[in-house]
Amino acid sequence: MSSYKVPGISEQKIIYPNLPVDWIVHLVKNGNVCEECGEIEMGLLPNACNAHTHGMERYNHLNFQLVLNYPKEEIMRILNTLGCMVRDGFRFEDGDLIEGIYLDCPVKLKRFNETDRSVLRVIVPDKYNRFPGENGCMVEYLIQLLETDDLYLEHLRKTTEGGLN
Ligand SMILES: [Zn+2]
Repeated sequence: MSSYKVPGISEQKIIYPNLPVDWIVHLVKNGNVCEECGEIEMGLLPNACNAHTHGMERYNHLNFQLVLNYPKEEIMRILNTLGCMVRDGFRFEDGDLIEGIYLDCPVKLKRFNETDRSVLRVIVPDKYNRFPGENGCMVEYLIQLLETDDLYLEHLRKTTEGGLN
């Protein structure tokens, strides 16, 4: 487990000029329309989304995921910042702390499953810098410890029904 800092804009420009963003971000969010079937996604827990990258394989690296239902721009900022760091040579693993995404607190990476693959989920601490799992962490942040499947109401409902039968 290591600690990293996001490089400043000026450093990035000097060392890594004009490299492409050659990954994509999938944003599965309540209210979004599925490009394939046209249905409106409403299946996620309130406060949850399933945002993740595809394409980090190109760098022999795990993809990233974020499950707090932040505005789209914020989700893109966080996931693309990490994507750029991987593109530019950083290598991350489960348990790493990253400074510089937010001014006043680090985020933590934790390994989870997402549709049959492993991803590094970005775990954000609450406003008192308490990570989920730490004493007193605000309840809205605890969903970050759920398995991806459990972020979906349908899956929770089935699991509960199974338990009652
Ligand atoms: Zn996807």
